[in-house]
Amino acid sequence: MPDNPTHAAPEGDMHPCARCATLQRTCCQQTEILITTGDIARIAAHTGRSDFWSLRRPEDPEYLEHDPDDPNWRTYTVDEHDRRRMLLRKESGDCMYLGKAGCVLPVEVRPLICRLYPFAFNERGLTGMDAHYCPTTVLLADKPKATMLTVLGMDPLDGERWRRTLYQELREHHELERGRAGGPARNAPAPEVPPTHERVPST
Ligand code: SF4
Repeated sequence: MPDNPTHAAPEGDMHPCARCATLQRTCCQQTEILITTGDIARIAAHTGRSDFWSLRRPEDPEYLEHDPDDPNWRTYTVDEHDRRRMLLRKESGDCMYLGKAGCVLPVEVRPLICRLYPFAFNERGLTGMDAHYCPTTVLLADKPKATMLTVLGMDPLDGERWRRTLYQELREHHELERGRAGGPARNAPAPEVPPTHERVPST
């Protein structure tokens, strides 16, 4: 059982995230994790490093799509060159913070996006659950009344707090960027980004 799984471990059976990892590639191995400037500050303060992210175009074009239920999301998260701030990944594709026993970051340091999963949300509030990375047919097979939120012990109060912080940090950064020199022209060449590694070696 992981001592530091993706989410806090409910008591009892093997943690669902650990069980998921025995069945398939997990959410920490399949996703390109968006980070806010607040996430960057918290992770940097915890790890003492700043070389864990880059501004880049996501490999999965779905991350660039407009969401009519959350109309500001794309504006807040994607720049004029279709780039997002994202955590680096290992050569295997795993998140750089995925260790043998789960996420190596404490919950309140993890990117807000990671903490929120599998809550569904938009700028107005929590909207339910979106657990499409979870093998629910196996994990919930013997629990007819359970959902991934209940088996993971997810508290909606935490979810709402994290959701509010996420949008607040995204909005603040967006306003800051807009205010800088009137913003870059839509078709201008991509500005130089401080060199970071797109991939970090697998451990
Ligand atoms: S930061 Fe942690 S929870 Fe988020 S994808 Fe990486 S390993 Fe998973």
